[in-house]
Amino acid sequence: MRYKVFKFGGASVKDAPAIENLHNILRRYPDDHIIVVISAMGKTTNFLEKVLHAYYHNPDQVEALVSELEQQHKDVALRLVPDPGSIFDRISELFGQLRAKLDVEHSNNYDFDYDQLVSFGEMLSTSLISMYLNLAGLTNTWLDARRLVRTDDTYREGRVDWDTTIAQIRDAVLSKPDRVFVTQGFIGGTAEHLTTTLGREGSDYSAAIMAYALDAESVTIWKDVPGLLNADPKRFPDAVKLDKIPYEEAVELSYYGASIIHPKTLKPLQNKQIPLYVKSFFEPDNEGSVIMTCTSKSNVPSIIVKDRQTLLTVFPRDFSFIAVDNLSELFAVFAKYRIRINMMQNSALSFSVCTDAEPQRVQQCVEALQEKYKVKYNENVQLITIRHYNKPTIEKVLSGRTAILRQTSRATIQFVIVER
Ligand code: ASP
Ligand code: MG
Repeated sequence: MRYKVFKFGGASVKDAPAIENLHNILRRYPDDHIIVVISAMGKTTNFLEKVLHAYYHNPDQVEALVSELEQQHKDVALRLVPDPGSIFDRISELFGQLRAKLDVEHSNNYDFDYDQLVSFGEMLSTSLISMYLNLAGLTNTWLDARRLVRTDDTYREGRVDWDTTIAQIRDAVLSKPDRVFVTQGFIGGTAEHLTTTLGREGSDYSAAIMAYALDAESVTIWKDVPGLLNADPKRFPDAVKLDKIPYEEAVELSYYGASIIHPKTLKPLQNKQIPLYVKSFFEPDNEGSVIMTCTSKSNVPSIIVKDRQTLLTVFPRDFSFIAVDNLSELFAVFAKYRIRINMMQNSALSFSVCTDAEPQRVQQCVEALQEKYKVKYNENVQLITIRHYNKPTIEKVLSGRTAILRQTSRATIQFVIVER
């Protein structure tokens, strides 16, 4: 049996019409075996992050937020089916579990609590959608990804234990005659059955994990854009669609932060030569883009802008130069505080990294470094990467601004600039 894996992100399940559209897309594949991987609805993950924040800092606001979220989900169910009794029961059950967690004092381990709470977004969306599809005549089986995707206990960034994961997924799917399965993106579970998440936007990665485990025929990510574009059309209205992209090129693009596909998604697919389609859920007849093994050497410049960056620059306090000794020490500190390095550069006396503005982590890291290094940091910078750069693209992107750091290789140029 060759399965297709379909992934629907938050925008493609954001309300009742979007979920009806998902149903219509599935109806176009009446004979295929499909694993449907779904994110939390709309902005639910952000909303749950607010709930978590309130749980830690303003406990008396928690219940109002939780009720609002419950009402939102029930409203969607009500728009989808005239008599949503059974769906309401399931939603109430999940909210009962969520409230039970919020009723006890937090653990002081923010990342752990994050995963236990924020994972409810996917539990809710998949339960609601699976039940709706069954009521609407599209028979499907709901699977609990916490028992499929085994991770270690690196909360908020669970690292996949591939052997167990493959065995669990194959066991859950291949033994059943069912044609359509619905499961959660983004979440997994430890050997102790504690919930983990795979990192923001991790549902793409979940889809790749499913596809890898099942030797799927293809993965399709259904999105609100016509395919993979060479730039974010909200910033660059002249963005163009890339039709066919080799895996390596797509890996480079996502590595530099193109928000199209979660960076961990592509490697497993490439290993098994599983093509990844990106298609518009508004226009399912249109071609979209495909990432696969191909030689097409497109040199269309791609522009990737990462906002909310912090530039850290360290200078040894003693008389040493930046060399192997202190580099390994610096990297150990970055690893300890999980500082994601989006760009780095050194000179004789300084070492700079551009990282995501995660104030808590950055602050702890700076404190750890300060004993031996003078640390300077610029907040509110942007990191701009151009693959296959040329002069007009650089001019367009910088539009008169000066870079505080610049790095060039044969295919890629990067600039750190102060955010406007
Ligand atoms: N719901 C999660 C997020 O918004 C995962 C995903 O959408 O891929 O980050
Ligand atoms: Mg999402």
